[in-house]
Amino acid sequence: MKRRNFLKIGMQVLVSAWAYNLEDVLLAAGKGSWQVDVQPGQLETGTLGLVKVHPPQSVERIKAHFGGKNIPVFPNYSTEKWPFGCFVPIPLTMKPGRKIITFRASANGETLLYSHPIKIKKKEYPKEFLKVKKKYAEFPPPILKRIRSDQAAVGRACRKITPEIYWQGPFVRPVPGRITSPFGLRRYFNGQPRSPHSGVDFAAPVGTPVKASNRGVVAMARDCYLSGKTLIIDHGYGLFTIYCHLSNFKADLGDMVSKKAVVALSGKSGRITGPHLHWGVSLLGKRLDPQSLLNISSHFA
Ligand SMILES: [Zn+2]
Repeated sequence: MKRRNFLKIGMQVLVSAWAYNLEDVLLAAGKGSWQVDVQPGQLETGTLGLVKVHPPQSVERIKAHFGGKNIPVFPNYSTEKWPFGCFVPIPLTMKPGRKIITFRASANGETLLYSHPIKIKKKEYPKEFLKVKKKYAEFPPPILKRIRSDQAAVGRACRKITPEIYWQGPFVRPVPGRITSPFGLRRYFNGQPRSPHSGVDFAAPVGTPVKASNRGVVAMARDCYLSGKTLIIDHGYGLFTIYCHLSNFKADLGDMVSKKAVVALSGKSGRITGPHLHWGVSLLGKRLDPQSLLNISSHFA
């Protein structure tokens, strides 16, 4: 369309606004539009984002699709500004660039569709090269079997999508200690790349109370070969927090735990060089930087 035509349409809107009532016309113009706000404004690989959604009218059902996945949408009762929301995972492996999130809603038998762009920026994570004894770099078959079965159990727990909002307000860190190893650190053992660090490590002497980052249901409490005593909390809608190398569980599988409740004591269980708490976040089966969950928490209300 030529610029002149744009001007003409602009003039028409102005003329109608003047002829009727400016406010009514603007309301009518806004009525058919979706309002979508992505937080943070710049999404980086290895993090999660919060998408606030305000459909143009009240809807019965709403679904989202992003990055080749169905994204569960939750109702938000805390404010009328965004009656729906969803968390989007930006895995470490996602290609940077412009992506699209699509919403499909139904209202009075009518289907409403809307697409919104999301820009993904590549985040560079630090590398660490370690020289270790061969027996620590390679596992004999029986150990490897145990590691695989642990990983499958964690995967099963974290892939569940509970259609309940268990979390209440912002997420909090589980222990007060400083971060000794960041999320995404790429470790090389004797030159061989390992999986990137799937969470953050906090300095924590053995026996430090570990608090639930938010309200949720204990989805796993298991002694794993690598991550030691491991506790997973389901916060609903595919969002989980994971606590590793614990010395003691203080909550059982299936327990509903409140935010900041002591769910475990930290320790040095599993394959580990010194005591610390490894804290992870999983969203729709993807491990993401827990710091990004703490950061978007301020946008909850
Ligand atoms: Zn760790």
